[in-house]
Amino acid sequence: MAFFEGLSKIISETGTTAVNKTKEVTEIARLNGAIATEEKVIKEAYAEIGRRYAEKYASEPEEAFADQIAIILEANEKIENYRRNIEDVKGTTICPNCGREVERNKSFCGNCGAKLPQANRESSVPENTEE
Ligand SMILES: [Zn+2]
Repeated sequence: MAFFEGLSKIISETGTTAVNKTKEVTEIARLNGAIATEEKVIKEAYAEIGRRYAEKYASEPEEAFADQIAIILEANEKIENYRRNIEDVKGTTICPNCGREVERNKSFCGNCGAKLPQANRESSVPENTEE
């Protein structure tokens, strides 16, 4: 009889331990989620600080930030080049007046009617302007 009582007690304790373990795991997961949320808030605030600083001081950054500003300016330049490459592939350009994407060989923007710069019409048949 004592054996069965002891066994019953062990099973019961094991069950309680398992329930506690599940609660513990759930609580830890919840807290880790809360930490991740706050870490994201901090990361976004840091990014915002950096963005504001770069906007304000990109032309003359303090020495401590100069290397990071240079990285941003270089990456922006690359993005501009990639965008131009996309325009080359598509045979389009951006209207300087309205910002809409327009066909490169057009003289006027189809959206706002602004005259498009000649220099952007590289994909048209080249004129014989060699000297
Ligand atoms: Zn336009």
